[in-house]
Amino acid sequence: MSEKLGKRERLKLPRINPPIRDPEERIADFREVYLEYDAEAAIQEASRCVECKNPPCERACPLHNHIRDWLILTAQGKFLEAAALSQSLSNMPEVCGRICPQDRLCEEACIVGAKNQPVAIGAIERFINEYAFRELGGIPMPQVAPSTGKQVAIVGAGPAGLACAEELRKMGHSVTVFEALPTPGGLLVYGIPGFKLEKRVVERRIEYLKKLGIEFICHVKVGQDLSLQDLFDQGFHAIFLGTGAQRPKNPKLPGMEFKGVHEALPFLIRNNLDEEELPPGMGRDDLRGRKVAVFGGGDTAMDCLRTSVRLQASKVVCVYRRDEENMPGSRQEVKRAKEEGVEFHFLTTPVRFSGDEEGHVRKVECLKMRLGEPDQSGRQSPIPIEGSHFEFEADFIILAFGFEGDPVPNEDGKLKLTKWGTYEVDEGKMTSWRGVFAGGDGVRGADLLVTALKDGRDAAVGIDRYLRSV
Ligand SMILES: Cc1cc2nc3c(=O)[nH]c(=O)nc-3n(C[C@H](O)[C@H](O)[C@H](O)COP(=O)(O)OP(=O)(O)OC[C@H]3O[C@@H](n4cnc5c(N)ncnc54)[C@H](O)[C@@H]3O)c2cc1C
Repeated sequence: MSEKLGKRERLKLPRINPPIRDPEERIADFREVYLEYDAEAAIQEASRCVECKNPPCERACPLHNHIRDWLILTAQGKFLEAAALSQSLSNMPEVCGRICPQDRLCEEACIVGAKNQPVAIGAIERFINEYAFRELGGIPMPQVAPSTGKQVAIVGAGPAGLACAEELRKMGHSVTVFEALPTPGGLLVYGIPGFKLEKRVVERRIEYLKKLGIEFICHVKVGQDLSLQDLFDQGFHAIFLGTGAQRPKNPKLPGMEFKGVHEALPFLIRNNLDEEELPPGMGRDDLRGRKVAVFGGGDTAMDCLRTSVRLQASKVVCVYRRDEENMPGSRQEVKRAKEEGVEFHFLTTPVRFSGDEEGHVRKVECLKMRLGEPDQSGRQSPIPIEGSHFEFEADFIILAFGFEGDPVPNEDGKLKLTKWGTYEVDEGKMTSWRGVFAGGDGVRGADLLVTALKDGRDAAVGIDRYLRSV
């Protein structure tokens, strides 16, 4: 199609969205909401790319993936070549295609979007990679360089740790990943629900990494079960810390001690995983007939809201202190939540929770807000409106106010931390402890899959350079 149509005509072609399951059907299970293109639709949608000389989509992608070139290959029906190209700069393009907030990254930058809807880059990335895995019978094994005799310990099996492990292994280093939880994957498994990313997609990646020769040791919390110095003493030549930022950043409010007030991440973990993958002592919540209120406006809040809908809560409300325009998460996810029946109270903040004699939360008292001047993040700060108090009934509260760094215990103060509890690193991702590197949410604070991958890849380059110098 791109051969026949000129740039102007292509700019006018309507976007072909990937198929999506009906809200009534999808809220009855935890399967993925979006379905895959067929080959014809992928070709047509990729043909809408106008092949910019200096593609803004690639600049907006933290991995600077070769988006334009794999769109061109897709438009030519060369799906295997397109997939191979997308994999050359991303350690999990099939996951990026599913959960990257494209509407804030590549698709927001797409030139076609100036007057029309942008090219559906994420859905095409998912299609070409799933197509390739089907055709090739799995993820293709890359070349591994001859052994260097060096051993690296990766702490934390989230996307940052996994990307770093893969890159180092390909360079010929021996790699062992230590993970505190029962299964590798980090927030991709213990956080992001199956309706955005089915667990089988992550499991397939882990199997591939094992086949590549990476060793995984789960149920080990570094800093508790063994120290960073122990790892060096065991013979590891370098360490990468990909420990994430999973410590909740909740305000202290009266009534938070009532039964029925929950933190977001444990709620998502216990309701989105099979029993055998759960940390000990966790079980599902019964939300049938419950009135759920989720506080926060990011990806975590959206995931809690949509999980509550699937657990058959009678009412699910999102309470967010700014307006819809200023929500931090993906706009698509907000749209999906609305379709699934979630109600939104914008410009609202909680003041206290009140409960019954049995100590169970029953009501929330809130205050209305207005927006003032932009803050450091560039978003308008919310300002309370005096005398605007109001109450509503809720008997299951989920706090999703965000996360901060949760670093490994700092042995002898050797690891410099920022005031946000994140690791300080230099350009090569080395911390203040020589030979210890870090990246992902543990350095940036809660961020994105794609930035964690980027950090893992950059750290692998830094570690390789370091290993060759010692
Ligand atoms: C609910 C939710 C939804 C999200 N949705 C999206 C989305 O749609 N799109 C997107 O791009 N991003 C999303 N994110 C953000 C994204 O998941 C993270 O930015 C990304 O996972 C960070 O990767 P990481 O490897 O740095 O850390 P993590 O994924 O947090 O992994 C850290 C790993 O380290 C382990 N660990 C920690 N300390 C130790 C220790 N001392 N010893 C051993 N192991 C340790 C942890 O158990 C964990 O497995 C979401 C986050 C959440 C919480």
